[in-house]
Formats: sequence, structure tokens, C-alpha cells
Amino acid sequence: MTTHAPTTSASRRRAVMLFVLVATVLVAAGCVRFPAPENNPPTAAAVVPTPPGVATDVPVETPPNAETCDATESLRPPAQMPVPGRMPPRSSMADIVAHGRLIVGLDIGSNLFSFRDPITGDIQGFDVDLAREITRAIFGDPNRVEFRVLSSAERIDALRAAEVDVVVKTMSITCERRRQIAFSAPYYIASQRILALRNSPIQGPSQLAGRNVCAARGTTSIGRIQSIEPRAQVVTTTTWADCLVLLQQGQVDAVTTDDAILAGLAAQDPWAQVVGPSLGEEYYGVGIPPGKDDMVRFVNGVLERIRNDGTWWRMYDRWLSILDSGYGPPQVIYRD
Ligand code: GLU
Repeated sequence: MTTHAPTTSASRRRAVMLFVLVATVLVAAGCVRFPAPENNPPTAAAVVPTPPGVATDVPVETPPNAETCDATESLRPPAQMPVPGRMPPRSSMADIVAHGRLIVGLDIGSNLFSFRDPITGDIQGFDVDLAREITRAIFGDPNRVEFRVLSSAERIDALRAAEVDVVVKTMSITCERRRQIAFSAPYYIASQRILALRNSPIQGPSQLAGRNVCAARGTTSIGRIQSIEPRAQVVTTTTWADCLVLLQQGQVDAVTTDDAILAGLAAQDPWAQVVGPSLGEEYYGVGIPPGKDDMVRFVNGVLERIRNDGTWWRMYDRWLSILDSGYGPPQVIYRD
């Protein structure tokens, strides 16, 4: 074999040289023409795609603190929590046991609270851990849970239509929402702030005058920024991740919402930073279908347990320590 190799490569070299020679002669003789360059060189148009559902004609909304109604007061947990897997007959929790899993509405683009891990594909975060604690208390097994992806604007309708058993999605307790759905006691306190790029002049709400600021539809963030800086031009999207895309593409100057969500966006982009003072506090509660008082009491019992046995701080340290919010678990006031 080795003795034939030089012969083979020598003849291949000769064939290549012959081809080059013939081709050169043909081109020189004008028998072969290469296409002439076009008059207008091709241009690469920089198409900046806009996420679907972006709106710029945003009506003025009521700020979340327009009314006071002791929004964060809730119902007292049962004196004795039922044993997992043995829920009281005819209770809302017994219905959940009957359908085999807790159906939880959340988002998968809210980094730190509920998001899909790109490597494992698992949905995780602070809100996911809380949803699993509620699941554990009902079934004795934190995995008997089904996640339904909801945008911020879909949360209330999903609860009212009983498409989900609970919503655990950075959902602020407000008087207006309490007229439509039930809430647990608060489990987290966030502050609305602003996210801007590091080279931006925006340092607080007054620099938003005449500039575009993004917020997800169906959130308290819109009415609050409109009331604090009415000259800001609010652009709305379906998800918070879409607001980050608009900021990165230069289509908005800033994003405004809870520091808890903004920190999750900033963690995905080293050019983005949270700026300015708190624009107001947001108390997160678990959203519950209206009229399910037994479920409200039960979830409040779960929240009591996780505050008292150290689980709340373990969840905070795991997901939210970068926030350094300083609030700790919220104080709870029960109505009865
Ligand atoms: N906390 C705000 C709200 O409930 C924003 C959170 C979110 O969109 O998930 O409207």
C-alpha cells in the first residue's frame, strides 16, 4: 500500500495542475465568464425585531396605593393544620387532593422568582419553592404540582375561572385586586425601582420625563410610574423578559417594576443596573380564587410554618440574597 501512495498523489497533483492550466486558458480566452458584481452592493439591513404584543398607546392607570383598605390583612390559619394527605372533607384542599396535583399559575421568565433553568429545564425560584411548600402541606410530597404559565395580565382571570388553584407570581396585594380574588397574607415585600443601562443618564424617575419606560401589562408598576412621573412614556409588553429585550435593543430607555424582578433582569445583562430610590412598596401574596376562605387560611398556615422554621430565610438565601432588601419576612395581621 505505502509503495503506491507516492504514485497516486503525484498523478493527482498532475491532474490538478492540468485543470488549473485549462481553466486559466479558457478564462483568458473569454470562454468562461464570472458573474459581474451588481451595481448596488448588497447591504445587511439591521432588522430589530420587536417582541409580540408591545403597546405604546398605554392608558393612564390607577396607582396601587390610590386606596387604602388594609390590603395585607388576611384570615387566621386554622388552630391545627391538617395532616398532609388528609385534608378536611369537602374543603378546597380536599378537592385539590382529588384532582391529584396542585395547579399553580406562574411565569417562567421572572428570574429569581420563577424561571426555567436553561440547563436542566426545571422551573425554579423563590415563588416555585413557595408553591412546592404549599404542595407538600397538602400532599406530603412537594412534587405533586403542575405549573401553568401565565403572563402578569392573565393572573386574575385564571383565578376567577378556577383554571389554577393558586397563583404564586410576584403578585402584589392591592385593594382593587382584592375585590376580584382572594389573597394569602403577604410573604414578601418588594420595592418598585428603575432598571437602566450603565451608560444611561437615568438615575431616578424625573429623568424618565419624555423617555420610554417599559412595564409588563396588567401590573401595578404602570399606574405607579405614571403617577410619579406623568411625563414618562410607558411602553407595555406581555412579559418582563420582553422589557429587557426592548432595553437591550435601545427601543426603551428604562424598565420599571419591583426590585425583586429587576434584579433578576440585571443578573442576565451586565450592562443593566437598578437605579434610583424606592418608588413604593409591593406586598406579594399568593393569589387564591374568590370565596375560598379555607384555602386562604390553609396557605396562611403554610406561610406561618415557613416563617417560623427557617424555611423562609433558606429560600431567601438561596434565591434573593443578591437583593439585600433588608425587609425579611413581612409582619402579618389577621382579621379574625
Ligand atoms: N408586583 C407587580 C404586580 O403584581 C409586578 C409583578 C409581575 O408582573 O409579576 O403587578
